[in-house]
Amino acid sequence: MIGGGLGWRQKGIMADEVDRANDLAQTMVEMALKASPAPSLKKIGRCHNCEEPTSEAFCCPECRDDFEKRNRALRIAGRL
Ligand SMILES: [Zn+2]
Repeated sequence: MIGGGLGWRQKGIMADEVDRANDLAQTMVEMALKASPAPSLKKIGRCHNCEEPTSEAFCCPECRDDFEKRNRALRIAGRL
């Protein structure tokens, strides 16, 4: 049964929507960062980010993220 609380509930939802819009914007940025595939990097026996010896292009996901973020920032900076 729905009581008389619709008024505040609607306000609550609206505030929630704003919060969610902010969250969504941030999530989308993060997703875009994560989704951007690393430009075909060769496995050079070392991490492209920190030059730690590794059989992969990066020694850890953090390094890949770091590298991609930097790469993306550079690309965005170059476009502006
Ligand atoms: Zn590394």
